[in-house]
Formats: sequence, structure tokens, C-alpha cells
Amino acid sequence: MTFEELGLKSEVLKSIKELGFEAPTPIQEQAIPHLLGKDSDFVGLAQTGTGKTAAFGLPLVNNIENHAKTPQGLIICPTRELCLQIAKDLDSYSKYLKVSIVAVYGGTDIRKQMSDIKRGASVIVATPGRLMDLINRKAISLSDVEYVVLDEADEMLNMGFKEDIDAILETTPEKKNVWLFSATMPADVARIAKTYMNDPLEVAIGHKNQSNENIDHIYYVVKEKDRYAAVKRLIDFNPNIYGLIFCRTRQETGSVADKLAKEGYNAEPLHGDLSQVQRDRVMDRFRKKDLQILVATDVAARGLDIDNITHVINYNLPDDIENYTHRSGRTARAGRKGESLVLVNTRETGKIRAIEKQMRTTFTLGTVPNAEEICEIQLLKLIHKVISTDVREKDIQKFMPTIMAEFEALSKEEVIKHFVSTEFNRFIEYYERAGDLNASASKGDDRNDDRPNRRERKTNETESGKTRFFVSIGRRDGLNPGGLLRLICDATGLNSGNVGRIDIMTSYSFFEADNEYSDNILKKVNGAEYEGNAVSIEITKDKPSGGGNRGGGERSGGDRRGGNSFGGKFQGGRDGGARRGESGGRSEGGYRGGSSSNRSDDRPRRESSGGSSRSEGGYRSEGRSEGGNRSEGRSEGGYRGGNSSSRSEGSGRREGGSSREGGNSSSGAGSRPRTFGKPFNKKD
Ligand code: AMP
Repeated sequence: MTFEELGLKSEVLKSIKELGFEAPTPIQEQAIPHLLGKDSDFVGLAQTGTGKTAAFGLPLVNNIENHAKTPQGLIICPTRELCLQIAKDLDSYSKYLKVSIVAVYGGTDIRKQMSDIKRGASVIVATPGRLMDLINRKAISLSDVEYVVLDEADEMLNMGFKEDIDAILETTPEKKNVWLFSATMPADVARIAKTYMNDPLEVAIGHKNQSNENIDHIYYVVKEKDRYAAVKRLIDFNPNIYGLIFCRTRQETGSVADKLAKEGYNAEPLHGDLSQVQRDRVMDRFRKKDLQILVATDVAARGLDIDNITHVINYNLPDDIENYTHRSGRTARAGRKGESLVLVNTRETGKIRAIEKQMRTTFTLGTVPNAEEICEIQLLKLIHKVISTDVREKDIQKFMPTIMAEFEALSKEEVIKHFVSTEFNRFIEYYERAGDLNASASKGDDRNDDRPNRRERKTNETESGKTRFFVSIGRRDGLNPGGLLRLICDATGLNSGNVGRIDIMTSYSFFEADNEYSDNILKKVNGAEYEGNAVSIEITKDKPSGGGNRGGGERSGGDRRGGNSFGGKFQGGRDGGARRGESGGRSEGGYRGGSSSNRSDDRPRRESSGGSSRSEGGYRSEGRSEGGNRSEGRSEGGYRGGNSSSRSEGSGRREGGSSREGGNSSSGAGSRPRTFGKPFNKKD
């Protein structure tokens, strides 16, 4: 069917053409001919994304008399955002008509809206609360209204606008047409239909509580403590995500958004504690795709009318199944595909079954991606970016001789390897101890599924039979696990099998080796050079596994970088730890040597308030993901400095969760490769 066949005026057809709508969507096809008729009460069960705004908007502007000065059409919708969106859409549908659209909603100056109405409005688009206010002030008369549209009726009732809607409808003429749109049909909505309509045409797009078929519903079963880490993996596995994360409470929303932002993700919260100005700013950024991830409560995200959302992530399931329909309906709009991902703990899988039943849809059990899968995806993204980057031939030309000379000794394959490794090593380091986050769905108890990764040690114990060494250089000196392994093997003649766990920190490192080689290693590696840096190593005082008190890898002896303890080093070492800390800068910025009591146990400290501060714009620069968090998560053996008691037990790692991803800003969020937090590329 074509728009021409639906019976719309030529002026409306012209604007449809300009909008690029080629053919009506199913709801438009069924609704428009009816709504253009005389008695046109109508109930449309359709979600956002189905083209429902045009389904009522096109016939509405079509039916309104040109030059009408009093409201003939009234659209009531739940939120300011939706109100603005509908008004904007109607403006575009009526581009070639003399129809004036006025939007009235709360949170802004009512006087301006009053004068807009006075100037003449043929269609009012309103939120219920503000409209009631205007009615009470006698600033608006609805006595000439012929068409009332109730959009997202279920949402309005959910939000407690039942009385307002009744009161508003009471002020409209008895004889009018009521068009009701709702994603779901709870009893309250059915009551409105019964009270205010005569024999309405009912059109349901899909089953009445059914989800859009373009949405893939995938659920992941994780342990409660891994929920946040799993979300990060889902994001990392979908580097081009343009997503909405739903949380249940404002606190959870704030906390998840904050943690993500601190770890370099381009994420911000949207919840009821924000002022209208803040909400507008966040929404605007999200709409423009300056913001990649919006973390929102159900209420705050109502009316969020954005196309192209690729993923909805349910951090927690909503209490009300109907809210799940609304959440997932934010993706897969206008015929596109989308994914609604749900995290549940082992005790919540029953809820999935209930949603499946109610929505008549099927969920797939997903597997939280593992480190290798994520690394691969991220690397491919990097490679594609490299390939598609414009080469500014003219500008780069003068540097080419130097660049070529530098690369001369390397083959093409080596250049590629080195180049890719500049990012790859970060991913590997970040994920190297990341365990499997998938819990067993069938067990009712997530304790049954405590499967630490082979390389993931629950404490910072040195493996028995091995000696743990402190190394005076770290990532900042260009060191990576492979480089350290090479250094040790080259200096000692040992092979990689003799060397155990390696931990590269920002400016120092640790490794383990079989006890029998410790003298050889001490003698040979001490004084070796790594990329121009003299390397010194020493044996830590860490006890072997099973040996009671586990410290954070206490080190005997001094530190060549100044100070004779970690505390000393971080305060006054080469890197100027204290200064960094104050400026919220990189790595050791989070560690400050601490107070004298902190230093008594001779280990690096992390201040929970350390790390960089939020940037005003909310977007976390690359530097940010390096800052604070970077060293926090990786601190010796996963040490997650929190309070002194956890440190004195030496059990920081256990408390911080089984993987470095599991932390939060105060418990030491895992360091994150900075590529993960790169600005969202709109073209992606
Ligand atoms: P809605 O369900 O009203 O929120 O519409 C979802 C999106 O579909 C909006 O971006 C509309 O502009 C778009 N849209 C509506 N009708 C059509 C159509 N017939 N063809 C193409 N896009 C449409």
C-alpha cells in the first residue's frame, strides 16, 4: 500500500515525501484510513518504533482546519521529551498546512507557554500535569477540541496521571474522537477506552503484550557480584554499541554510570535526581550520539524516543514485566534490528520464563564473552579504524624518511605485530586474569558455580615452590609481560617455562620463578637494561601459598627510585607520586603513600578518592581511563586497597571480587585499556 492510497491531502503527502517515508508501516496502514473518517475512536496497541506517531499525527494534521486558532487537536503524552518529539514530528507533517502546534510540558516557564497558546494553537501537545495547571489557570480552553490523542496511555497511568487524564477529558466536549495508543493493555487503559470511546476500532500490532520481532532477547546468568563486570564485557564485546542500560533505582543508575565513566566508558546517568537542565543536556548528548551509553531508570527513560539504539541492557530486571516491554522497545525501532540483553542471577531465571510467557517471545541464553573474544573484537575494531583512517599524505610526507628509517629493520609483519601490540597488550593485560563470568542457570544457588579461572588467584599468594621478585620498572617504562619474560630469559638463559606469573604495574612489576633459579635470576637480571632503563630486582617477602598471612607482596630492601618502601616510592619517587595524586593524574595518582599508619605495612596505598575527577562534559577522555583506576585494579596481586583491615588481612583481592573487573571506584575498579573508552564514533 502507498500513502497516496490512504486518503491524505496532497500537502501532507508532500511532507511525507520530504521525510523520506516510502510506504506506510502496518499501524499506519490500518489506522490512517479510519482516523480520517468521521467517527474515528481508535485503540492502537503499538510500541514506539512502529511509526505510531505518524499513524495519528498524519491524519490529525490532515483533519485540522487550516488557520484554526483554538485547539482542535489535543495530544496528551507522559513526558516532556515525548511531548517535544511529537510536536516536532507534527510540525514536519504539517509543513505545507496552516496548522500551529504548541507543546506544553512541565519544568519550564509556564508564562511563555501561556502566551504561545494565546497567540493561537490548533493542536496542543501536552503532558498531563502542565495541562492541568493551564486549565486551572484558565489559560487554555478545550471546548473546541475534536480529536484527543492519548499516547503511551499505559505509561501515563503507570506514572500516576489517572486523575489528571480523567479531569482533562472532562473539560473536552462530549462529542469528540478519542485515539488511544498504548504498548500494553492493562485494566486501567481498558477502562479509559470503555469510558471515553464508542465502539473504537482496535488495532494491535503483534500480540498485545508482544515484543517487536526485530528484538533479540538474550539473557546472561551471572553471579550477583559479577553483574557489573558482565555489563562491561557486554559493552566491550559490542564496541559500536549505542545503548541504554536500565537500572532499578536512582542510586543504582548513578553508581553504574559513575563506575563506567570512571573506567573510561562514554556513559552518563539519567534519573529523577537530575535537574531538568541536566536531563536535557544528557538527553541532548545522547540524541546527538556524543554519548554512547545512557544509564537510566524506567521512569527517566520514558518517552525517550531515539532511533538507532542498538542495545538495551537490563542491569536488573524491572519488577513489572510490562516495563520490560517498554525497555526493550527502545531498540529495534523503525524496522531495524536490536538486542535486549538481560543480566540475571541464578535465582532470577524464573522471571525470564514469566516474561517469555507474557510477551510470547523467546529468550536465548547468552554466554558472557570471555577475554579472548573481547580482545578479538576490540582488535578488529582497531584494525578497521586504522585501515579506514584518512592518510594526510601532504602532512605526513616530511616525516616519512624518519619513520621509514625507524622501521627499516622490521619486516611488514613485524611492524604490524608491533603496531597492533601497542593496543593488544593492554587488552591482554586487562583481561589476563578475567575469569568466566557465566554462572549455572539451572542451580538455584550461585555458590555452586564458583569457578575461578586457572590464572585467577584469589589471593596474592606466591605459588608454592616459586619465588616472587619485585622489578623496578613497569608499564610506563614500556614493559609488558612478553618484554619482561624476554629480559629474564635473555639474561639468565632460562626458558619461559621456568617463569611463572607476571604482574606489570604502572611503574614497577612482579614476577615469579621456580625457587631453584632465584640466585641466578637475582645475579643476572639485576643491572640488565630494558629499553635504556637499568633494571633492578629483588625478592619479595611474600610467603608461599597456604602460608597464612598474605600481604600485598612485601618487598625487602630499598627502592632505587627513592624511599625505602613502597610508601616512600609513591610519595617521593621518580614519578612524583604525591603531585600526581593531587592532580588526579595517571596511575599512581591513586596511590599516595598514605599517612604514617598507612605506610607502616610498607605497601602501596590507594585513596578511594584518588583518581581523576569527572570532567564537566561527562565524557571521559582517554587519559581518564589511564588515570587512577589503571593502577588501582592492578596493584600487586590484585590488591584492592580499601580499608586498613582488609589490607592487614592481605585479603584485598578476595574482597574486591574474583577478577579485576569486579571492582568499583572505591574498591579498585579494574584498569581498562584506554581504547575501550575512546570517543564514540557516530559513523560506527
Ligand atoms: P514512532 O513509532 O512514531 O516513534 O516512529 C519511529 C520512527 O519511524 C520515527 O523515526 C519515524 O520518523 C519513523 N517512521 C514513521 N513512519 C515511517 C514510515 N512510514 N517509513 C519510514 N519511517 C517511518
